[in-house]
Amino acid sequence: MKKLSLIVPMYNEEEMIPLFFEKIEEVLNQIKDYTKEIVCVNDGSRDKTLELLKEYKKKNNDIHIVSFSRNFGHEAAVAAGFKCAKGDVMIVMDADLQDPPEVIFELLEKYKEGYLVVNAKRVDRKSDSFLKRTTAAWYYKIISKMSGKIKVPENVGNYRLMDRKVVDEINSLPEKNRVFRVLVPYAGFKTTTVEFVRAKRPKGETHYNYKSMFKLAGDSIVSSTVSPLKWALKLAIFFGLISSMGLVADLTLFIIHLVNNQFLFGFNFGVLTIILCMFFCLSIVLLVLGIFGEYLSRIMIESQNRPMFIIDEDLE
Ligand code: UDP
Ligand code: MG
Repeated sequence: MKKLSLIVPMYNEEEMIPLFFEKIEEVLNQIKDYTKEIVCVNDGSRDKTLELLKEYKKKNNDIHIVSFSRNFGHEAAVAAGFKCAKGDVMIVMDADLQDPPEVIFELLEKYKEGYLVVNAKRVDRKSDSFLKRTTAAWYYKIISKMSGKIKVPENVGNYRLMDRKVVDEINSLPEKNRVFRVLVPYAGFKTTTVEFVRAKRPKGETHYNYKSMFKLAGDSIVSSTVSPLKWALKLAIFFGLISSMGLVADLTLFIIHLVNNQFLFGFNFGVLTIILCMFFCLSIVLLVLGIFGEYLSRIMIESQNRPMFIIDEDLE
């Protein structure tokens, strides 16, 4: 019999755990043709998440707890789930039931039809705030425009099914800066999509503030394309040339005025244009510098080559 692994990152989810297991056990009990494993990755929770998980594990032997030494972040938790899960087929889902567990039936149905990746797409995000929906819409638009040959599907977050073959490919990638929703389409394989309505979080609060959403957007862009870097370079060269031409023109003007003995007027005129030019060029330089910095900081992280996460306990 094939084994199905559910991968569930959990950070300070003590309020959600009873609800989650009630719902997920109800769904999993209806699935008879797989053995099951629920890989709960405790991402350094500071509340009772780990204690509760250990309690539930006493009653349910399918629970596999992977506990980090501290909070490493959602993407790291997903990566650890993939490394530790034993299944032939895996499903990633959030612990807050925003990814409705009933969709698992549809995911497995498509898997039976021969798809190795089954995305779960959010078709209705009314449960998310207006700002979250708008920024998310922009995020998916920009990523799918920029990622070129990799087709990053819109409104597909982490909830999806993958065959072991796909997971092995993702596990073997060397990079530390991982955005799972960009890596899966990078890996490719026969893919399809099912749709679902995103539920409201019943308990607890989102861990994604706008700062972490910007970080996710930055990571997604930098990890999937170098075109901003190329544009920054072009911009720098173009405006570099323009500003040096401007400088030559300014100097010429200045000398002409000097020779014609109109020094005072020429000087004022020259200074004003030079200042305006300088401010304009400075803004371009800062923009280019910012883009370079985004890439450079990630090269730094990659070259440090630290592990993505540190596991404190692994209770199978
Ligand atoms: N999560 C995590 N580490 C973090 C933040 C979140 O493992 O540092 C988990 C969290 O417990 C949940 C999932 O990632 O299972 C999604 O988080 P959340 O619901 O806060 O995000 P949202 O649904 O608001 O995007
Ligand atoms: Mg959530």
